[in-house]
Amino acid sequence: MLIDNHGRTINYLRLAVTDRCNLRCNYCMPSEGIDFVKNDKLLSIKELTTISEILVNQGIDKIRITGGEPFVRKDLMVLLRALAQMDGLNDISVTTNATLIGPHIDELKQLGIKNVNVSLDSINRETFERITRRKQFDTVHNNLIRLITEGFNVRINFIVLDGQNEQDILPILDVMKHYNVSVRFLEEMPFNGGSKNFASIKWDYKAILEHVRTRYPDFEKLESPATSTSINYSIKGHKGTFGIIPSFSRTFCGSCNRLRVTATGDVITCLYGKPKANLRDIIRNKSAEMGIQKAILKAVGTRAKTGFDAQKEHTDTVFDNSMTSIGG
Ligand code: SAM
Ligand code: SF4
Repeated sequence: MLIDNHGRTINYLRLAVTDRCNLRCNYCMPSEGIDFVKNDKLLSIKELTTISEILVNQGIDKIRITGGEPFVRKDLMVLLRALAQMDGLNDISVTTNATLIGPHIDELKQLGIKNVNVSLDSINRETFERITRRKQFDTVHNNLIRLITEGFNVRINFIVLDGQNEQDILPILDVMKHYNVSVRFLEEMPFNGGSKNFASIKWDYKAILEHVRTRYPDFEKLESPATSTSINYSIKGHKGTFGIIPSFSRTFCGSCNRLRVTATGDVITCLYGKPKANLRDIIRNKSAEMGIQKAILKAVGTRAKTGFDAQKEHTDTVFDNSMTSIGG
């Protein structure tokens, strides 16, 4: 079991498989993209599998595949097939923009990978295209509905962006009332690989909740697992639920059970902190298993208590990084 220096059990790995993406969401990347890493710097599928295996043996029982866009990686299914057979791994999930998942839906189902988070920041075509800077609205919409109707456990991630999509907060709840889906509103974090570096946000979790209350005054708070980053609610007559993720306000650090490994093997113990080790360098040397175990124990044993503490690890700004490199 992995326990950090503040007594928190770490059982959840967010594993980024690429830093590349076919969209250019303006809260995540500059329009020209970022300096994507060369292929030989990315972990291979074999390396990703080995690292997952070692971490599962150390106590990880839940892995979320993220990126970049995981499905731009042509060999992604090879990794997912290996994970699906891994003893001790109880929960495999994927976070995707849902542009490329279509051809893989049947196999995901066969593998028992049913937890899919879809990023969708607008239900209006023009707003969607303005935010993502690409014309993929229909594909995303069709894949989303297919995932929901085929029985996947779908959560929609909707980042509330000041001046861009707040007009869609209530409509997305109206539309999704007929579907068994959880719509989660996220606070924006200033990681867009560019110049964003704000000290506060207009749409924090309180503002989002108050806005929802204007149309749905009677929503009810739901019980959520202690390690959940979202605070979840139900609305009478709605098939699904909604939630709010205070990713900028960081109210959930006390129960954080996550570890991140980026597509280049960086170990990140907090989104707001610096990488603590690089597993690619270790795995490409001989004593990989022991080296990785030691690096993970050291990283977990020196974890910042909160995202605010982690932010202090940077002398300059933490925020010139892009979410496509970190994995969200
Ligand atoms: N491409 C996939 C997707 O968009 O779902 C997976 C990678 S994306 C980096 C993972 C998550 O990070 C997405 O839910 C995305 O909305 C979120 N994210 C990206 N940039 C963010 C930001 N600046 N603030 C908050 N969340 C962000
Ligand atoms: Fe791509 Fe996801 Fe970043 Fe959007 S949020 S640019 S889909 S990695």
